Amino acid sequence: MATKIKRSWAEPYKMKMVELLKMTTPAQRKKALTAAGYNTFLLKSEDVYIDLLTDSGTSAMSDRQWAGMMMGDEAYAGSKNFYHLEDVVKSVYGYKYLVPTHQGRGAENILSKILIKKGNIVPGNMYFTTTRLHQELAGGRFEDIIIDEAHDPDNEFPFKGNVDLSKLDKLVKKYGAKKIAYVSIATSVNMAGGQPISLKNLKELRAYTKKHGILIIHDMTRVAENAYFIQQKEKDYGNKSVKAIVKEICSLTDGATMSAKKDALVNIGGFLTINDWNIFEEARNMVVVYEGLHTYGGLAGRDMEAMAIGIKESVDDDHIRARVGQVIYLGEKMKDYGIPIVRPTGSHGIFVDAKKFLPHIPQTAYTAQTLAAEVYLDSGVRTMERGIVSAGRKPNGENYFPKLELVRFTIPRRVYTQAHMDVIAESTARVFERRHQIKGLKMVYEPKYLRFFQARFEKL
Ligand SMILES: *Cc1c(COP(=O)(O)O)cnc(C)c1O
Repeated sequence: MATKIKRSWAEPYKMKMVELLKMTTPAQRKKALTAAGYNTFLLKSEDVYIDLLTDSGTSAMSDRQWAGMMMGDEAYAGSKNFYHLEDVVKSVYGYKYLVPTHQGRGAENILSKILIKKGNIVPGNMYFTTTRLHQELAGGRFEDIIIDEAHDPDNEFPFKGNVDLSKLDKLVKKYGAKKIAYVSIATSVNMAGGQPISLKNLKELRAYTKKHGILIIHDMTRVAENAYFIQQKEKDYGNKSVKAIVKEICSLTDGATMSAKKDALVNIGGFLTINDWNIFEEARNMVVVYEGLHTYGGLAGRDMEAMAIGIKESVDDDHIRARVGQVIYLGEKMKDYGIPIVRPTGSHGIFVDAKKFLPHIPQTAYTAQTLAAEVYLDSGVRTMERGIVSAGRKPNGENYFPKLELVRFTIPRRVYTQAHMDVIAESTARVFERRHQIKGLKMVYEPKYLRFFQARFEKL
């Protein structure tokens, strides 16, 4: 018999251990936030109730991963955990050669140094903070080639991570293919709100870059989440497993950098993986300088073991459905309260549109930074600014003024419950109610690099 009752996204796991949290009063939170210079990055985690600062390294590991931690082979060279990880990367993602690094930016540093020459252009589907900085430090210049829809928080286009091939073609015509270091493609584009790229678009990009002899380097930090959206939204992929889609995505690119602290369900770890032997050889040489020997890259054997197991768990259909399902659940709640969020809901968090939430606060008074501070004051929920502070300054010192001024509510994997999601939405709705009384901020300390991590603010 047909039923109207929909099956929910419920978790394919149960709790075996819990971590107790401190509950704080409004007065305690006010004191903590002032001490932190209105920067949620500078709060002490014990003063935070629900921590949505990032989904990076904050996942709950499975009992199997913890068991794997006990099987760390802490040999300096040739740890068996490295060989396990190498096997898993090859079989799950399909890339040929692996260089482990302590986290994603370690891989970005090495790859940028190898592939980018001074004056090169690096086109990409929207910038990411550490990725672009390493590209610039290596002498390159990032150029945004994401489709225009990605910069419009209200546009419901399902694949806002797509590349606009005409933008890429313009760069190739202007500078010549030789000046293009590679095309930098992120899956589930973080700065656009966790928006996926379609396989159709990636195939077209592959055909174009092949014709011009340009490499595609994949920022595969959230490739499984991207694959889930392809399964749900792209024609002809409804019956394919997330695992199969992940492999197909990777097969259309030449190599990748990975922050395993996201998709791969570990607290620390990353790698660089590449199909070209010569690039691999150079990377294997360089990792010794910056990270550690090529069979551990700054990681303990146990970290590599947990990563190998986490990668396998990350491409499981039931896992990824519950992971993204929880995020979508929160998104629906926020929308019900009338809170302006980036649409469609992305894979790893809810991105609240601060410009719409606080239209009376200009970008120069740090709209999103202000909103993140107010949400913390209300309930102890910690979020992150993704706007003008994160965008930082151009190499010539001018501020970037990004179109998107967002607050990111990032959901750690397998950590919080549906009741927590309810509290988050209710708290944001309460701030929304009193939005007209909220005033902006001024920056009183600005670090030179990646300023959003350590900048300090005062109330205007
Ligand atoms: C987190 C992240 C990185 C950097 O990785 P780390 O492990 O934090 O160094 C790179 N790209 C994307 C898309 C990320 O989300």
